[in-house]
Amino acid sequence: MEDGTESRNLLLGAPFLARSLREKWGLSMPDSRHNIIIIGAGVVGLAVALELTRRFPRLKLLVLEKEPAVARHQSGHNSGVIHSGVYYKPGSLKARLCVSGAAAMLAFCREHGIPHNVCGKVIVATHEEEFTRLEDLRQRGEANGLTDLRVIGPEELREIEPHAKGLQALVVPATGVTDYTAVCEKYAELIIANGGEVLTSAVALGIQRRADEIVVETPRGAFSTNALINCAGLFSDRICRMAGDDPGVMIIPFRGEYYDLTPDRAPLVRALIYPVPDPRFPFLGVHFTRRITGKVDAGPNAVLALAREGYSHSNINLRDLAGSLTFPGFWRMAARYWRMGSGEMYRSLWKPAFVRALQVMLPEIAEPDLVPGGSGVRAQALKPDGALVDDFQFVPSGKVLHVLNVPSPAATASLMIAKSIVDLATENFGLS
Ligand SMILES: Cc1cc2nc3c(=O)[nH]c(=O)nc-3n(C[C@H](O)[C@H](O)[C@H](O)COP(=O)(O)OP(=O)(O)OC[C@H]3O[C@@H](n4cnc5c(N)ncnc54)[C@H](O)[C@@H]3O)c2cc1C
Repeated sequence: MEDGTESRNLLLGAPFLARSLREKWGLSMPDSRHNIIIIGAGVVGLAVALELTRRFPRLKLLVLEKEPAVARHQSGHNSGVIHSGVYYKPGSLKARLCVSGAAAMLAFCREHGIPHNVCGKVIVATHEEEFTRLEDLRQRGEANGLTDLRVIGPEELREIEPHAKGLQALVVPATGVTDYTAVCEKYAELIIANGGEVLTSAVALGIQRRADEIVVETPRGAFSTNALINCAGLFSDRICRMAGDDPGVMIIPFRGEYYDLTPDRAPLVRALIYPVPDPRFPFLGVHFTRRITGKVDAGPNAVLALAREGYSHSNINLRDLAGSLTFPGFWRMAARYWRMGSGEMYRSLWKPAFVRALQVMLPEIAEPDLVPGGSGVRAQALKPDGALVDDFQFVPSGKVLHVLNVPSPAATASLMIAKSIVDLATENFGLS
């Protein structure tokens, strides 16, 4: 199949005899009991499944995914960057799991022939007021264990990125790029080779928790399990509630929109050019990324999406919207960050403003050089007090484990996130 649908659907693993019987005869009895079911075949759910099959080869494991193929949401709509770990608060899960995760991701790509490139990146200070933040970033990176970070002046910057303009720049040699859809497909292939199963087009619609089993209902049948791991990304809070738990947070969808540089202007960017981040909103600040395909994009911004899977302004889901608007934390967040939010929305709706933000780092770029590219929606957990959950968050509840906040750099860190989650699962589920 040209669009790869068929080959992706081959990832379903062992044939689902029980399912075909059910479909043919309308039977609705649960399949035989699994040890663990994972909901969500994004990079996190799949990495967890892979780690489980490696650590516990005899485990009966099933991954349920609502889409017809893996990596259809955040994991297949991101920037493809293997982050170095320079940004994150020392000691945080993000810092620890990103630095070790980047090394693990590179080793994984090398081992499995997945295209990748450790191209390095420059974080460019365009105003003197940013010098202190750039230096803080260098120190933070070193505290996180990065080596070879150095602050350079405009001439050296021109040698690395001839078209970038800055007064200073921090060079981060460890940053790279890859293709996370290919990574997810390889994870799924290995899970299946290790005896696990990945069932697509199987949305979890209900979860029944009984004394000695958990049953997950899907249109493809009801699946019984001893334990459940919720890796549902943009829907992880809903799955948490479905399992009878209180997530304590609401997932707010933030869309990131990209422009692509036209092929004749792509040579303006050799690798990755980033602005100095605002420490309060490290995920903000549009940047340039030369992807593993060679295509260069600019973005992503961060605008409130009106649907959890709202990839454009016209995607509106009233249930999602009402959920956000009736959550008290939403209004507290809006009151706190309205200025930043309106700036992002303005740049989203008004291309000249988006281009002006880019011209600060790359003055030669002009409006006709940019054509609309893709978009992705980030799952960001929000607390009732209006604060964004900063670090990764994994919450055990008996034989269920909820992965409630795994924003960037979770794709980079996925293999190490998986180790942490499997450690927790081993303890909480009594695996041996
Ligand atoms: C615009 C953007 C740029 C980013 N750039 C980077 C980057 O460069 N580097 C980096 O490391 N990280 C980046 N990230 C972050 C990274 O992509 C995410 O942190 C990561 O993909 C999260 O993975 P996940 O498995 O939790 O979520 P997802 O990939 O969203 O997977 C969750 C899965 O759960 C499924 N699901 C949901 N509900 C159900 C249900 N009821 N039943 C069955 N299945 C269900 C969904 O269909 C989905 O496939 C970026 C993210 C975005 C959005």
